[in-house]
Amino acid sequence: MRFRKNIIEMEAYTVPKKLPPVRLDKNESPFDVPLAIKKKVFEYFHDNPFNRYPEIDSLTLRSKIAEEKAIDPEQIFVSNGGDALIPEIISLFEGEQVVTFQPTFSMYGFYAMRYGLNVTDIDLDKNFSIPDSFIPDPEKMALVVICSPNNPTGNDMEESKIRKILDTGVPVLLDQAYVEFSEKNCLPLLEEYENLIILRTFSKAFGMSGLRIGYAITSKTIANHFRRAHAPFSMNIFSAKMALEMLKNKAIIQEKVAFIKRERDKLQEVLADLVPVKSSANFVLLKTDAYDFLFKRGIAVRNFSGKMDEYIRVTIGTEEENETVKRLIGEFESKHHTWIH
Ligand SMILES: *Cc1c(COP(=O)(O)O)cnc(C)c1O
Repeated sequence: MRFRKNIIEMEAYTVPKKLPPVRLDKNESPFDVPLAIKKKVFEYFHDNPFNRYPEIDSLTLRSKIAEEKAIDPEQIFVSNGGDALIPEIISLFEGEQVVTFQPTFSMYGFYAMRYGLNVTDIDLDKNFSIPDSFIPDPEKMALVVICSPNNPTGNDMEESKIRKILDTGVPVLLDQAYVEFSEKNCLPLLEEYENLIILRTFSKAFGMSGLRIGYAITSKTIANHFRRAHAPFSMNIFSAKMALEMLKNKAIIQEKVAFIKRERDKLQEVLADLVPVKSSANFVLLKTDAYDFLFKRGIAVRNFSGKMDEYIRVTIGTEEENETVKRLIGEFESKHHTWIH
């Protein structure tokens, strides 16, 4: 038995085994799907069979998403979480390199390695924005990945910089997992650029992480190729039905998103000294080493290694959780860092 070299070089994805009860480490929504919607779907499945395969490519769900966005369902691909679409997208294009802007979501590099591609990591500039010096090389590059709002920094990437990259014709994966919390919806770019793929998910704003639902929206040209490589039954019927029902009740989500944005802005205001860049997502990056302090007090946030080891990423939670976080971090900073200010 011989394992491929690029697999041997990879490390399995791990998270600490025992995490404290308050979970602000994964950018999940603090709100579950409303019980009334769950009940409606449970009832539906009481009389609908599980022994049959889903409809091919979840046309019903794709059509509902397409209708909202006034695009053709043929331009939409759904899968088992946005995550599952990343390797499908990476595998579409010729070229030896996948470009990412660091720091960012780790799964782009993970899947590029799985395909044995070179990952070219470009550092974001001091404002966590795409450096002006970056010039794409469409000959060498299979894909440039832009995450906006970016995880873990939270800021939007400037549209002018995204356009400059798209103008070169290089394929661009624009990950907008947090778009609902931002004012910068990049969907209109699809009308201008056929080399663009936008990734979306039900895991964050919709509070459906456990159901694993994500989708990609792209041009007709890319869609024609994507279709050939796409796993046909990757979306299960239960999750597809849940997503459909949630889309019919969008007002609920809009209300929750508005709450999270308000709480995010309040937290950024109170902890302004620690905020390196304004967040347009449901989390905030903070320059503090309060990770252990919070952990011991029952709160899990995200920490980082390497260049980001001075930062933590805090997901916006319930009002009570956010109040506790603000109080504890304030306490930690005044105790440990009075000599800095
Ligand atoms: C959460 C997240 C996703 C998608 O997550 P799924 O749960 O797999 O849909 C994609 N990109 C980024 C940057 C994320 O943070």
